[in-house]
Amino acid sequence: MGKLEKQTEHRARARSDVASLVRYHSPQVDIDVRLNTNEAAEPPPVAFMSDLQRALDRVDLNRYPDREARELRVGLGERYGLSPDWVFCANGSNEVLQTLLLAYGGEGRCAAVFEPTYAMHSQIVRITGTRLVGTARRSDFSLDQALLAGVVEAEKPDVLFLCSPNNPTGQVDSDDLIQVALELLAPHGGLLIVDEAYGQFTTTSAANLLREDRSLVVSRTFSKTWAMAGLRLGYLLGPPWCLSELEKVVLPYHLDSIKQEAGLLALAYGSHMEARVEAVVAERQRLTQALRELPVTVWPSQANFVLFRPESMSGTQVWRGLLGRSVLVRDFSTAEGLDDCLRVTIGTQSEDDRFLVAMREVLL
Ligand SMILES: *Cc1c(COP(=O)(O)O)cnc(C)c1O
Repeated sequence: MGKLEKQTEHRARARSDVASLVRYHSPQVDIDVRLNTNEAAEPPPVAFMSDLQRALDRVDLNRYPDREARELRVGLGERYGLSPDWVFCANGSNEVLQTLLLAYGGEGRCAAVFEPTYAMHSQIVRITGTRLVGTARRSDFSLDQALLAGVVEAEKPDVLFLCSPNNPTGQVDSDDLIQVALELLAPHGGLLIVDEAYGQFTTTSAANLLREDRSLVVSRTFSKTWAMAGLRLGYLLGPPWCLSELEKVVLPYHLDSIKQEAGLLALAYGSHMEARVEAVVAERQRLTQALRELPVTVWPSQANFVLFRPESMSGTQVWRGLLGRSVLVRDFSTAEGLDDCLRVTIGTQSEDDRFLVAMREVLL
């Protein structure tokens, strides 16, 4: 027996599928220009922060939070013209997705994703003991009816993930494609999850297609458009028959009082959020245009990030070159289907300028 084995043999063993997992990883390093995790570049308005401090004075920390998160769900429902029983809130949309898979995935069930997409979808599928069916998108990262039909008919997935706009490619799935997915899934009783973490950066939303008799749910988050990644608040819009299953598997009191206050208060700043989103969309246009003048392939994006691939250098070389200039972008160069690709989050104008200067230095 080797020395290492000897030292670890007394340790309890995790489930074998967990032991073989690799944890979700996105480097958090101290750097001047952080354009790697699609956060908002600027904090929420100053007035929001002082309102929040006042709201916190009223929180009874000795008491459990409102388990129903009633006021927050009413407020979110109003934004979408839905009653509160169509809204489920959780600690970031990641917890929303995990709760969905706890209820609709699990042993003997399968979930379909189209790669490349947000890595946490397949991670959550695996963690919940659900069988993963991963299928490659078309070479331009698009999805179409034939691709969807092939997967749904062969695998009859219990859950199908779409991500619109898709992270990291920035593409949107049309309403028509979502309707097609619903029609394909219906005979098998599968659930369609549309992850709209970047939904506000584009013009269409699957939320408009929600109906009591459709197995469709739409997840959104305060992390990106609402400039509150640090708060960990996300929500799901969907029919009450589905959401009531989620309430059974989620932990009681999972949504703390502070988060409920902050989320509700944020909704009163909706017009600020919309103005920020508009500015990001304009800046995305500017950054995309500037990237097109460099020797890189650029994928047009509907989100707050842009995916690109250097034409004359490897992705890793460019990533390191940027890092050396204190600019951090997301490195997808070794990810399947994304060879040599990098993703840059839209920052402030000055951050984006620093990125562009660094790109010119590295590439030209
Ligand atoms: C960032 C991101 C999320 C995670 O959101 P949280 O609300 O911060 O958990 C979910 N989905 C996609 C596609 C994302 O990019």
